[in-house]
Amino acid sequence: MNRFDKVIEELVLERFLRYVKIWTTSDRILAREKTPSTERQFDLLNTLEKEMREIGISDIFYNEKGYLIGRIPGNTKAETIGFMAHVDTASDAPGKDVKPQVHKNYDGSVIELNKSLMIDPDEDTDLSLYLGKTVITTDGTTLLGADDKAGVAEIMTAASIIMSSDEIKHGDIELIFTPDEETGCGMDNFPKEILHARACYTMDGGREGELEDECYYAYGADLLFEGIVIHPGSARGKLVNAVTMASSYVSMLPRNESPEATDGRYGNFWAQNISGTLERASVHILLRSFDADDIQRRVKALHSFAAAVEAAFPGGKVYVEVKKQYVNMKEKLDQNPRVMANVEKAFERAAVEPHKVIIRGGTDGSRLTEMGIPTPNIFTGGHNFHSRKEWIAVPAMVKATKVILNLVEIWTE
Ligand SMILES: [Zn+2]
Repeated sequence: MNRFDKVIEELVLERFLRYVKIWTTSDRILAREKTPSTERQFDLLNTLEKEMREIGISDIFYNEKGYLIGRIPGNTKAETIGFMAHVDTASDAPGKDVKPQVHKNYDGSVIELNKSLMIDPDEDTDLSLYLGKTVITTDGTTLLGADDKAGVAEIMTAASIIMSSDEIKHGDIELIFTPDEETGCGMDNFPKEILHARACYTMDGGREGELEDECYYAYGADLLFEGIVIHPGSARGKLVNAVTMASSYVSMLPRNESPEATDGRYGNFWAQNISGTLERASVHILLRSFDADDIQRRVKALHSFAAAVEAAFPGGKVYVEVKKQYVNMKEKLDQNPRVMANVEKAFERAAVEPHKVIIRGGTDGSRLTEMGIPTPNIFTGGHNFHSRKEWIAVPAMVKATKVILNLVEIWTE
């Protein structure tokens, strides 16, 4: 793919700078009621739909929920694969009026965004990888939106090259753009039936080489505590206080298995919410683990804590309802080893060193994996996501784009 380096660099930079200026901040509260959570996400989606048509893609699905899927017809026999990115940016930092700063020929010094904010290469040590190259930052007042407009720009750049060149052999390719990833609700209305892809890749990771194929097994539990209310004058031996029941339940959760006490491969119990009155109280708890047996152990533990509280509060009732949220994508990826083997080949051909990362969370890719389409997550090249100190280097975007082009070829082999 080296023959395309120069053209990729121009195209991906031009697209990236244009996309980040389009305001697409999503809203975590509104996302519970509607998709997309903010109308402004259509501004980028409409642009992408138009650009797909301009580069010659005519097989396009686009709906009122903000899902945009374009299909490039193959020029040889191969299984359909997809590439996915999200158009929204996180609400953690302002995302309106983004003014990307292009630092050409980066000299290794501290980058001053404004008087009070700087990016220090002693802290952001990856900057040293890009001496003499072009680095893009914010002006210090907003986030940059490389998460995930770098992914969007990389996919669109690869698509435009595939459409304009006969040199690259490929099967059918689906380009998938989604809203509201940052709200956690991005896949709730995903039109899975539209997809033909047998495997997908999200372009939504961070630093160059990052490759994510493992996430949590995630469950959520709702606990309901029922007490017995008696006037305090005659409460002795009769009152069963749901507030006390709920608080004793929460105190049973092992503190050394909380998110604040764990990292790496350790799972946890995470108490999210407690509320109630004498009569009824409720608690919401999240369970997280990388291991299928361990997550079941945690589910069982919630039931045994409930039995212990009932025993300690005669007459009181504890109801436990546990729901699966998402599963570790590794399980499905291991059943389809070609999906990861091909990424590894694609990295190698783009001279990218893979850094496998386990995600202490889930992604849109893990949701898609659960729907039956194995979807690991590939780097975009961005750093310091969701912050005013977000930055990205152009060579990393070029490499990510090359990984996409390599992948489409490798899937035909
Ligand atoms: Zn993202």
